[in-house]
Amino acid sequence: MFRSFRLFKLAGIPVYIHWTFFLLIAFVIFQSISASESMIQLGFELLVLLSVFACVTMHEYGHALTAKRYGVSTQDIILSPIGGVARLNHLPEKPKHELFVAIAGPLVNVAIILLILLTVFVFYPADSFNPGFESISASNFFENYLFVLQYINVMLVLFNLIPAFPMDGGRVLRSLLAMKLGRLKATRIAAFIGQGIAVIFIVSAIFKYPILGRPVSTVEQFTLSIIGLFVFSMARAELNSVTAENKVNTIKASDLMVRQFTHLYKTDSTDFAVSQHNAGIERDFLVFTPDNQVIGTLNNEIIQFIASRGITGLVASYYTPMPTTLTPDEPLKSIAGKTSNLPTQLFPVLENDKVVGVVYKRAVEQQLKEIFRT
Ligand SMILES: [Zn+2]
Repeated sequence: MFRSFRLFKLAGIPVYIHWTFFLLIAFVIFQSISASESMIQLGFELLVLLSVFACVTMHEYGHALTAKRYGVSTQDIILSPIGGVARLNHLPEKPKHELFVAIAGPLVNVAIILLILLTVFVFYPADSFNPGFESISASNFFENYLFVLQYINVMLVLFNLIPAFPMDGGRVLRSLLAMKLGRLKATRIAAFIGQGIAVIFIVSAIFKYPILGRPVSTVEQFTLSIIGLFVFSMARAELNSVTAENKVNTIKASDLMVRQFTHLYKTDSTDFAVSQHNAGIERDFLVFTPDNQVIGTLNNEIIQFIASRGITGLVASYYTPMPTTLTPDEPLKSIAGKTSNLPTQLFPVLENDKVVGVVYKRAVEQQLKEIFRT
């Protein structure tokens, strides 16, 4: 974990903090000293800063712990000055589960808001809650703290519910659409809406459109543009990833397999294998028993070795036993998982114990490359 520091581990999930967070603390202290603020003012600012991060951490735990309920583990939670991310090992497939995981984060902030309201209700009866920010003193410290924390949590909820990836609102929108339209189509629509929102951000920034109910400042112009560009590219990334995921689940062994291929039998001579190797474009072969049961492969390197040494014998002595077989409707995802770590270069596709085709590893790799290049 380069440039991030591990803070603690709770519920089996390690929480890391990005080093720039310390820069933020240093900035707050520097700002405070140069404005010759009181110690209590500085203490207030630091407490607010830490509280924001605590709220963000709880928000991320909301996602992570809900995901855990659906059997999805979380690699870690990373906090940085621009926010937090719970890195789930994969997304829950069912739209309902995704909805609950996505909404759980903002709901944590809603719970914090309710808790603050309750605290105000208990400690500040009837109109006695009057936070004033001119200067923080011991007498108004807690009052101001509650108010700022309330404001921050409201902003966290509103920001996260913007219906655009990677915000939670984007996932909520997608999961709701997915219940009716399926994941791919839902992602297309959600990505389109997200990009529309991104364009509104960017256009508002350029033309200083009063998106926040008042004209935007130069700093906000800059921030909005950056967020807009980020949101725009994230929509694209999410769509690409779901499209790729859809492809690896829908492309089947029968789409990848070659139906015409040379059969080598274990009773064939190595000379025959070498001649087949040299005669055509096939480099690796499936090896069968005389009653057409596939038992292994004879690969390029071994045939070349046999040819270079002038070895004569039977294929039976040189073939490699078959590590795995495929079925015609096996999806690319499963094929890639089964074959990627094997040295074997071709795999038989079996239907009712009969070999109906062969899938070459390079075809699998080529297909994956095409899918993930987009
Ligand atoms: Zn969230």
